[in-house]
Amino acid sequence: MAIWNLGSINIDMVYALPHMPQPGETLAANSFDQGLGGKGANMSVAAARAGAHACHIGAIGPEGKWCVDRLMEYGVDTRHIVQSDTATGHAIIAVDPAGENQIILYPGANRGLGAGQIGQALSAANAGDILLMQNETNMQAEAAEMGRKLGLRVAYAAAPFDAAAVQAVLPFMDLLFLNQVEAEQLQDATGRPPQDLGVDDVIVTLGAEGARHFDGRTGAVSDVAAQKVTAVDTTGAGDTFTGYVLAALDRGLPMAQAMAQASRAGALMVTRHGAADVIPDLKEVQDAKF
Ligand code: ATP
Repeated sequence: MAIWNLGSINIDMVYALPHMPQPGETLAANSFDQGLGGKGANMSVAAARAGAHACHIGAIGPEGKWCVDRLMEYGVDTRHIVQSDTATGHAIIAVDPAGENQIILYPGANRGLGAGQIGQALSAANAGDILLMQNETNMQAEAAEMGRKLGLRVAYAAAPFDAAAVQAVLPFMDLLFLNQVEAEQLQDATGRPPQDLGVDDVIVTLGAEGARHFDGRTGAVSDVAAQKVTAVDTTGAGDTFTGYVLAALDRGLPMAQAMAQASRAGALMVTRHGAADVIPDLKEVQDAKF
């Protein structure tokens, strides 16, 4: 089985600043760090590190080849990542001494995907595979419809949140991942609670409070507790959680077990600084002592 992830690839450029810049100010950074990020890339890495065959469908610009090399190093199948003339998506992240951040996000190549590329990738998929997407690319609804027709399980992580984008994918969705804020925003937009969205499985992550599963078939609600850790950086915790849940479901594990494993992975992730580059692998997750 495989996880087909239509997802963003970003270069995260992190600048430590003495304070946030004022309008018109030129400010020297104290340090600079560059890493692989983007919700899509994070989820592909998480799924691959959790042992799944993760096939990333995405695009980079001329300067983004190292991102593909890095994804390959982490075990992601990169055959369906194309190179476009548009710059690779990137995030310019300013961090002040208190840890507060400001982010400029340029979607770039992530928003230039075409139906042909997605169709070609999915033609290699098998019924029962998982198709995953987030909201940092274009073509989500089109891909979801294609996925449904091919008999794939369609999973969507509704971030960054956009009510119209979620609702466009909703008719084709089997699994939905939301954090608490997104769950509230979606309920405001649709007037429906998670178990009434017509989606088989809705998972709401609750940070240090764990995660909740809503079974759209039976109406059952079940909670998974979080591990007790000291969080230093929550970047990518949700993406890691999603990748781990799907990798476990793809191996045929039941939802409760998939979420329990994902909760351990998410907890380890918040004890580390960084995004895709620090996502734990399955052995680390299994061996971790909490
Ligand atoms: P982000 O956008 O920062 O990646 P998110 O808001 O999408 O995260 P969260 O709900 O913060 O997602 O976290 C996802 C999962 O990671 C949680 O359900 C939980 O299992 C784990 N997690 C997050 N924060 C903590 C924490 N402080 N302690 C333990 N586990 C955590």
